Amino acid sequence: MNNNDNNTLEKKQFFLDSVAKFCDKCGTPYVLEDVNIIQNTGVLAIIHFSCHNCKSKNMATFVAPLGMSNRVPINTDLSVKEIKKFANKKEVSPEEILEIYMKLKKETKVFV
Ligand SMILES: [Zn+2]
Repeated sequence: MNNNDNNTLEKKQFFLDSVAKFCDKCGTPYVLEDVNIIQNTGVLAIIHFSCHNCKSKNMATFVAPLGMSNRVPINTDLSVKEIKKFANKKEVSPEEILEIYMKLKKETKVFV
């Protein structure tokens, strides 16, 4: 078992199933190759989706204790490697989870 590998096919499949199955823009089903796990602490995961069809990119957060996910389109040329540099925090505090939770709540209200 390799616990350091966050990008296992199994985990990618999990995020594919629970966060995003289809591209927002063109509706093409994502494949495992489109999924990149930027960060996964077991509590908070940041996932990058890149559509193999229309090349549109999405970032998603998944808060495991809450079973909540949020997806935002990103208009950036940042590569997955560069995004990883910004998201290289080792631990997520409860305050940060709460903050994300509040943001998710807020955004849900905006879209409803
Ligand atoms: Zn697409």
